[in-house]
Amino acid sequence: MLSNIQIITDRLTNALQNAEKPVALHEPEFAQSAWEYVKECIDTGWVSSAGKYVEKFAQDLSDYTGLYAIPVMNGTAALHLCMYMAGVRHDEEVLTPTLTFVATANAVSYLGATPHFIDCEKDRFSLDIAKLEKYLADDFSKTPQGVVNKHTGKLSRVLIVTHIFGHIEQMERLIALCSEYNLILIEDAAEALGSFYNGKHAGHFGTLSALSFNGNKIVTTGGGGAVLTPDKALAVKALHLSTTAKVADPYSPVHDQVAYNYRMPNINAALGCSQLEGLKAALINKKKLAQHYQSLLQDIDDINLLSAPKNCDSNYWLNALIFNSEAERNALIDSLSAYNIQTRGVWRPMHQLPMYKDAPSMDCSQAESLAARTVNLPSSAFLID
Ligand SMILES: *Cc1c(COP(=O)(O)O)cnc(C)c1O
Repeated sequence: MLSNIQIITDRLTNALQNAEKPVALHEPEFAQSAWEYVKECIDTGWVSSAGKYVEKFAQDLSDYTGLYAIPVMNGTAALHLCMYMAGVRHDEEVLTPTLTFVATANAVSYLGATPHFIDCEKDRFSLDIAKLEKYLADDFSKTPQGVVNKHTGKLSRVLIVTHIFGHIEQMERLIALCSEYNLILIEDAAEALGSFYNGKHAGHFGTLSALSFNGNKIVTTGGGGAVLTPDKALAVKALHLSTTAKVADPYSPVHDQVAYNYRMPNINAALGCSQLEGLKAALINKKKLAQHYQSLLQDIDDINLLSAPKNCDSNYWLNALIFNSEAERNALIDSLSAYNIQTRGVWRPMHQLPMYKDAPSMDCSQAESLAARTVNLPSSAFLID
């Protein structure tokens, strides 16, 4: 076991280390245009949530994804709006992956609803659809509005899928399952900008989806996110909800419902416009880096470098290495950190967090095991040329 860790450490330090600079998990790269666009916001005074870059960023995202796009303050806010627009209510449950970033489950909780946790596939990060199908058949009753949990009596109308590390998996089966059980599919696509499934960008499979432009994502706006939807009426609603439900009036501003101040500021959108210009090049490099890791590690026994699923053209946001044991995973994290190479274990599954430990959940033993054995490797696009 330890000899494996030594071999992996040797190969990764050789491949990644240049001079004394620490290697981060995922770092952004800024082009000259970032300076120009941001400077223009400052020079003209348009730094806040009105201004031409917010409109342009929305349009650029829409052109790239083929969906309506509404830029907001962060991915968590985007998820909150998705849940709100799906009509999630305080007395409901929402079927939520247990292996995801905490924002997915928190967005459900913000509406007073309860996440109901679903396991992942064995040694894959996607939902275990067969297990979910059996669970729905055994533990729920089907209604025209969704499924009712036989144990709690609560309705679930929404299923969330997270495209972890940019991988989009088994969408046909998931869509078929949702239509069989009258569930609304929402995509947490925070990690999936630049990922396509059967030629369609993330966000084309659910009713609504959320992107994130946090500093460690593939495109960053500092902090930021977006709601994506193929539905024009929902797009209009998302824009309205994210701009305090303000209605234009020539004399005095009117707000026609309780809503949110979630609009992305112009200065962040300016950065986003510059970043999107570099997305295609970044995607090429990220694919090369994933292939490079593959060739570096393929002859080593008892490890598995997560590959893109069938039919998915992945952005390879973060490369993931899966060990047979937690001890080996932790040993690699320690060993690489001694060389200033930053890696990170996968999030603790949601059903194990203190605020969600009593939430309803199916058996999530596959997620528990996988999360404990996986480490993310440095994945910045510029690590390879
Ligand atoms: C980053 C991320 C989010 C939230 O994004 P923020 O912009 O940080 O609020 C949500 N879900 C997943 C899976 C993420 O990786």
